[in-house]
Amino acid sequence: MDGDILSAPDVQGRLQALKTRFAARVKGELEELQRLLSPRQADAAGIQRAREAYEILHRIAGGAGTFGLRALGDEARDLEGRLQPLVEADIASPGLSDRLRQTLDDAFLARIHGLGDFLESASPLAAVDPREPYLPDDDDEPVATDIPQVSPTRVILADPDVAQASPLASRLQEHGYHVQWVQNPVEIQAIRAGLPEDVPVAVVADATLQAQLDDLELTGSPNILPVIYLAGSDSFELRYRLAESGAGGLFLRPVDIPSLVDRIEAALSEYQSARRSRVMLVDDDRARVMHAQAVLASAGMDVRVVVEPAEILAQLPAFRPDVLLLEHRVGPCSGPVLARMVRLQPEWRDMPVVFLTAGPGDIDQDALDTEDVLTGPLTDRSLIAAVRSRCYRARQLSRQLSRDRLSGTLVASRIRQAVAREHAQVRRHGRRSVVAILDLDDFRQLNRDYGHAAGDTVIRSLADVLRQRLRSSDLIGRYGGEEFVVLLPDCTDEQARGVFEAICRQFAGLAFQSGIRAFHATLSVGLAELGAFPSADAALAAADDALAERKQEDRESVGVWRADE
Ligand code: GH3
Ligand code: MG
Ligand code: MG
Repeated sequence: MDGDILSAPDVQGRLQALKTRFAARVKGELEELQRLLSPRQADAAGIQRAREAYEILHRIAGGAGTFGLRALGDEARDLEGRLQPLVEADIASPGLSDRLRQTLDDAFLARIHGLGDFLESASPLAAVDPREPYLPDDDDEPVATDIPQVSPTRVILADPDVAQASPLASRLQEHGYHVQWVQNPVEIQAIRAGLPEDVPVAVVADATLQAQLDDLELTGSPNILPVIYLAGSDSFELRYRLAESGAGGLFLRPVDIPSLVDRIEAALSEYQSARRSRVMLVDDDRARVMHAQAVLASAGMDVRVVVEPAEILAQLPAFRPDVLLLEHRVGPCSGPVLARMVRLQPEWRDMPVVFLTAGPGDIDQDALDTEDVLTGPLTDRSLIAAVRSRCYRARQLSRQLSRDRLSGTLVASRIRQAVAREHAQVRRHGRRSVVAILDLDDFRQLNRDYGHAAGDTVIRSLADVLRQRLRSSDLIGRYGGEEFVVLLPDCTDEQARGVFEAICRQFAGLAFQSGIRAFHATLSVGLAELGAFPSADAALAAADDALAERKQEDRESVGVWRADE
């Protein structure tokens, strides 16, 4: 078994190396934090910097838990919690700068400064006794607090022509993006240097800048999405040149904004699905588990450890992994048998299972023939690559089956399934979750006035707005023609109402184009808290009633109705 990363005798050393790498990254982030917070400006720029600081603290808190740096994690989480209300507030809300000034007082800054001490004083990784079963910490579960604001996606718009760039920038801003305009592509370097590596950035550039952008070698940064180009005229040569440079898209001027937004969103979701893979790791060997968890977490994956085979079925619905990583033997149980057991359950029938094993001799022939088996020795890097590619494949497959082609959201049967699953969770764990039904207003008329194709664009744009404004844990499905269902786990109806009011407002502000005519579209929303109803169907029906009532009352203005109103 020598060389097998999961059971190698030098596992301590490797864990320590991962932890050291994490600590080095945190050091850099702490410097960034000081830089962000020390000017103590209470204007819009200061608020933006506080938001960035919040994101950094959030990342440190998450990573510290994985590497056993509990005190650092607790402190970062507490500081994060203090910034949260500021981050969530509307940037225009009155008194925000005063609150910012009060929050960022001397004591706060001293604590930010002090975070580095937690890193210094952290002992080398506690010695691991491989015989001792590893019990994952319940405390590591994220605590449901207020519904977090999704930070806006960053778009860099590179265009030497200000008259051309400025209207485009404001249209993109209407769609909720954080837009930075640069006249000269070299400025992108500075922006990139100031951003953490895991904040995705979309670059939209005038096609005349392509050679200059190529020189910047942006593709070397994994968080810079492939450049989307804008051009005044079309030609084979142009398209060929852009394809050769690895462009992410080409749009001709005047730019069709909803299509451009669609393209940005598609690139973003590809980026996120590759990063945020969910892996359930079933193993009862503490040292192996800690190591594999650290390796996969260091690659940005979300790892859930299960040490007790009897827990697998209970954990699956809550975590919904992309792939299940099994040891060939877990305590008294055989891995292949556990895999078959999982698949007895119809909803997990297609769950990809990967067996981690040192060599073909460790697993029975049956499993080798039918399952995916990773045979050692595996390096950290090959473990990451193997798991990532399987997650990606699994996602692509299920995506094709479960996504609606026009909107890219879940098909009706899938979202209904998800609502039913969440209803069971709400009942079991007493958490609060909301289901919402959204319906576009007067859509028949809109189709008549502007054509079916324009109607389709409106439907797609609504899906884009939802994807942008909702958390990644919220699920969106296309329920009927121009109706969507949204599931918001860990959310109260009051919070959901605020979220949807903001969405309705933003959507109503978007200008659509049909020929030379510009038009707007609105939507209505009905909500219900899942826990208040005996079944998921009853909650959906209540949300539908609330929607119908809302439609009767007042369709023109933006608003949300709750089931109990
Ligand atoms: P209300 O405000 O009461 O919702 O009025 P409405 O006209 O929107 O009524 P309803 O929700 O019943 O209308 C649904 C219409 O949406 C019917 C159909 O013409 C249109 N529609 C359904 N699916 C699609 C689609 O995929 N594309 C387009 N363009 N239109 C669709
Ligand atoms: Mg309808
Ligand atoms: Mg309608």
